[in-house]
Amino acid sequence: MSQPKILVLGPPGAGKGTQSSNIVEAYDVDHITTGDALRANKDMETEYGTPRSFMEAGELVPDPVVNEIVKAAIEDADGFVLDGYPRNLSQAEYLDDITDLDLVALLDVDREELVDRLTGRRVCDDCGANFHVDFAPPEEEGVCDECGGELIQRDDDTEETVKERLNVFEENTQPVIDYYEDEGELVRVDGEQSPDEVWDDLQDAIEDAI
Ligand code: ADP
Ligand code: ADP
Ligand code: ZN
Repeated sequence: MSQPKILVLGPPGAGKGTQSSNIVEAYDVDHITTGDALRANKDMETEYGTPRSFMEAGELVPDPVVNEIVKAAIEDADGFVLDGYPRNLSQAEYLDDITDLDLVALLDVDREELVDRLTGRRVCDDCGANFHVDFAPPEEEGVCDECGGELIQRDDDTEETVKERLNVFEENTQPVIDYYEDEGELVRVDGEQSPDEVWDDLQDAIEDAI
């Protein structure tokens, strides 16, 4: 059987990156994440300017730029977990045209909790592993458990930009969730549990789907 194709939806800070890592490890699929791809190409020239200005403001990077990234990554992948895309209805329609998904899972988390998760998030500058100063602290402060790299705070994880990103989510990405829900494709997972509990529920959903 071919490898599963899984979409993980959820607001910024819901745990998509954290759970996608679990999926990659358990199912040996590619992690396709537009956020990481854009961060690695922040100063790439496009006809709309560079991704940097959009990202630092917490706004969406224009659809043609992200659509192209996702199309190329999906063509290269034998099974994937897609994280951070689609973020608006036009991206969701584009995705429908280029692939068939085995599972669409939503990590459900309240807004209050999201602000705490995002402002406390720290990421490894070398390997991208995720930590949290209170909820998932590394063994040694500022140092990555996985690779010993330096932990940094993302430019857009400041309180002001976080609030803008949550507004952008409500306006643009909530309709994507409604779209999959209306199609009867959405599986909700309670994302406010501990990371291990979320993973148990998510893995059950994956096993049911494949
Ligand atoms: P996303 O990719 O959806 O933005 P992340 O996986 O980066 O979310 O998680 C955001 C922050 O919340 C990180 O600092 C992460 O360590 C922490 N986190 C992830 N899952 C949980 C959880 N279930 N409970 C508490 N904190 C979590
Ligand atoms: P989060 O941890 O909030 O889920 P990401 O790492 O997925 O954040 O995204 C960071 C930023 O990258 C977004 O605020 C946005 O500027 C840009 N971005 C990521 N994915 C997309 C997308 N699918 N469409 C447009 N912009 C995107
Ligand atoms: Zn690391």
